[in-house]
Amino acid sequence: MTPFPCTQCGLCCQHVHIADETQFLDRGDGTCRHYDMARKSCTIYEERPDICRVDRMYALRYAHKYAWDEFVALNLQVCASLEKPSNK
Ligand code: SF4
Ligand code: SF4
Repeated sequence: MTPFPCTQCGLCCQHVHIADETQFLDRGDGTCRHYDMARKSCTIYEERPDICRVDRMYALRYAHKYAWDEFVALNLQVCASLEKPSNK
């Protein structure tokens, strides 16, 4: 299984308000309470929730539905959508 090609752009961590499943992480402005803006990194990376782990979410909920490559492509569409000004 090829690893998810994350660029570490941090846009998902700065838009946790968009999805119901990640809203609990919102510090109040759409950014995750565990996101370090200066370092562009997760402060709880090793203990981050399952919802932040593409490979774990795949194994837990989506492996019966999609091939890994399909799941990666779907997730990359979400990454790309976060780059659009309407989601900023
Ligand atoms: S938006 Fe996508 S590419 Fe950017 S950090 Fe999140 S998972 Fe990685
Ligand atoms: S817990 Fe970490 S990986 Fe998950 S959204 Fe927050 S900063 Fe990002």
